[in-house]
Amino acid sequence: MSKKPEEHCSFCGRPASQAGMLLSGLNGYICHDCSDQAVKIFGEQQHHSSKNFDPTAPIPTPREIKEFLDQYVIGQEAAKRVLSVAVYNHYKRLRYNAEHKDTNDVEIEKSNIILVGETGTGKTLLARTIARLLKVPFCIADATTLTEAGYVGDDVENVLVRLLQAADYDVAAAERGIVFIDEIDKIARKSENTSITRDVSGEGVQQALLKLLEGAEVSVPPEGGRKHPEQKLINVNTRNILFICGGAFDGVERSIAARLNSNVIGFKGDEKRQELDRDNMLKYVQPMDLKKFGLIPELVGRFPVLTHLEALDRDALRRILTEPKNALTKQYEELFRMDNIQLVFAPQTLDLVVDRAVEYHLGARGLRSIMEGIMTDLMFDLPQMEKGSTYTLTPEVAKEKMKL
Ligand code: ADP
Repeated sequence: MSKKPEEHCSFCGRPASQAGMLLSGLNGYICHDCSDQAVKIFGEQQHHSSKNFDPTAPIPTPREIKEFLDQYVIGQEAAKRVLSVAVYNHYKRLRYNAEHKDTNDVEIEKSNIILVGETGTGKTLLARTIARLLKVPFCIADATTLTEAGYVGDDVENVLVRLLQAADYDVAAAERGIVFIDEIDKIARKSENTSITRDVSGEGVQQALLKLLEGAEVSVPPEGGRKHPEQKLINVNTRNILFICGGAFDGVERSIAARLNSNVIGFKGDEKRQELDRDNMLKYVQPMDLKKFGLIPELVGRFPVLTHLEALDRDALRRILTEPKNALTKQYEELFRMDNIQLVFAPQTLDLVVDRAVEYHLGARGLRSIMEGIMTDLMFDLPQMEKGSTYTLTPEVAKEKMKL
């Protein structure tokens, strides 16, 4: 007795015993995996056709960009102004290059940016907020995960994989995007002397990054991970991609201070020294300080714009709790409102939270964990509270919860 031949998926060729249920058509079959794949491809195709860059769309002015940033980020005036101009110019450059691509006119080069500031002062927040506003693909990558090709960790090209993902694999869109690389200071070389042993996480990665920053054709494995020979690679040209890097550069203040002090030795030295804002040395940061810290000169040279974020003082921390569009207190009030309870923070409670954040030295990052510590118990009991009532969080209750 002859056995009925097993049905195969007409797309991947797998038999039903491997591929599972098959749907039959007039002349063939399709398995679950292949139909999934087909849905994805159709989806991407639609996305691509709707995402073309419109060079005639109005460009937001630096003032408008800054006003938008002001809604979410407290203080950091210098960084906001620099970023607003950089983003404005990024759009202008894209438009200009699109209009003049076949001519030999002036080429407007991009101005990659480095943001130097202590942890928790708003570097990532600034980058994220810009991403909300932008009509170009945007991604955040972490320099600490990058290694030189051939070592454990992500190849530098993986930064572009994220950007491609953000652009739904529309290469042309990704090529106009913005990449934020966090913790750039963590790939500084450990000493100023070049070592004869290979520096896996530091200088090698910087060298590899250079290629991206310079504006090159880079081949990227579409799914990320390591490149391997049989893999299909996507070519991405980085010429128009704007790179913004952020880093705390712990200890850079010392080299800034040393440089400034040695500059003013001599006549009138004392007078000049008094003018320095000792509590905020980062505002005097110069490219040479980053070199001293361990970034290679070529890399520093690829970041023509260098700006700083200020340490957050008590006043700024207090404002961060209540003022931004998605301020912490507003978030908790909303959570309570969903249970039909009005939450009120007594002003002294907020002062207490700020005191604790200052003690922790974690910038605004500490605010969230302190608030969570206070609020968790309250939120546990929230569904049992009387609907329609008002709950005032007093400093006494906050103090008690913070002890836990
Ligand atoms: P980092 O400088 O380390 O990148 P983040 O931007 O991640 O710091 O800040 C951590 C959190 O602290 C943010 O999610 C945000 O809620 C808050 N925060 C930090 N700085 C500010 C600021 N200037 N204005 C408003 N919120 C801030």
